[in-house]
Amino acid sequence: MIPYGRQDISQEDIDAVVDVLRSDFLTQGPTVPKFEEAVAGYVSAPHAVAVNSATSALHVACLALGLGPGDWLWTTPITFVASANCALYCNASVDFVDIDPLTCNISVTALETKLKAASLAGRLPKIVVPVHLGGQSADMQRIAELGREYGFRIIEDASHAIGGSYLGAKVGGCRYSDITVFSFHPVKIITTAEGGCATTCDDDLAVRMRLAASHGVTRDPTLMTHAPDGDWYYQQVALGYNYRMTELQAALGFQQMKRLDQFVDARTERAVRYSERLVHLPLDLPVMQDGAVSAWHLYIIRLQLDRIAASHKDAFSDLRKAGIGVNLHYIPVHLQPFYRAMGFKLGDFPDAEAYYRRAMSIPIYPGLTEAAQDRVIAALENVLR
Ligand SMILES: *Cc1c(COP(=O)(O)O)cnc(C)c1O
Repeated sequence: MIPYGRQDISQEDIDAVVDVLRSDFLTQGPTVPKFEEAVAGYVSAPHAVAVNSATSALHVACLALGLGPGDWLWTTPITFVASANCALYCNASVDFVDIDPLTCNISVTALETKLKAASLAGRLPKIVVPVHLGGQSADMQRIAELGREYGFRIIEDASHAIGGSYLGAKVGGCRYSDITVFSFHPVKIITTAEGGCATTCDDDLAVRMRLAASHGVTRDPTLMTHAPDGDWYYQQVALGYNYRMTELQAALGFQQMKRLDQFVDARTERAVRYSERLVHLPLDLPVMQDGAVSAWHLYIIRLQLDRIAASHKDAFSDLRKAGIGVNLHYIPVHLQPFYRAMGFKLGDFPDAEAYYRRAMSIPIYPGLTEAAQDRVIAALENVLR
């Protein structure tokens, strides 16, 4: 099976992890700060807080922004469940905004309409979480304008998008958001096995996220209620969790950062090749947002169902049978049983639901050979004929 995504691990990556195993620190040593500096430097953000997953990063981001009971977080239904669950961890409520049928990212038009209604009802969101689907930035400039107008904060879920750009700057610089979150799960652009990171330009948010990721405990005297009792002293000043990244993970991540641009270039080449060679098929190919340069985590096609004989479901299973590891990103979150139990239902977000009825992610990753890519293309031609 040609998978839809795969990590790329070099001998240097392996050596770096083994070196850590032989060193004094397996956790809370010098490598995590070194990795954080590499990420912060790459995206031009003053702060990067490394944690053990993007899910944890979303949680500490919500906590740092003060999300709590009675507050609302809005996100897109076409995302992984974690983009919405982070609100529930904080005992806040979740709602969704339908997608733009072209870019498949959160629709700014739908957002504006929903904000107007919410403003009248006195139910404005505290946080909006745009997700950069497949690696392509959402329309952040306009979302940030709406943020200023309606007073909400913004967390970019850039789990797919490290290495991508928006309006000439790397995603993660937080020019149009309070916090940006990355994932380093193996299928994502770079990996630390499990891992994530939150970047911000705000010193105070960085402090709060660090506290939340490590028990709410600090050794920094400036954050304490009184001078330290002695050299042993630490204080718990907030409720936190243990979301720390290990030194092993950070060593892998630090090495992977060196090859990030190479990875994105390789993905881009494969995306360009698909776009050239699939253009004649009854498919809608990825549409780029103005000003966005995708990191190409995913190459999502949408079947033109009125022009093909096979159903979406059959096309999907035929491709799997042909050894092509297609996938579907994502089942609309509001249709998950857990969310339906809160009252969401079919029909709530029609564009997201229409997307789900015909979307498919086809294999894209740096190690995908031309021969393997040609097999994917031939299988698609065969199934869609
Ligand atoms: C992968 C992913 C997450 C969660 O990332 P983890 O690092 O696995 O916790 C969150 N949001 C999106 C959009 C993702 O793709």
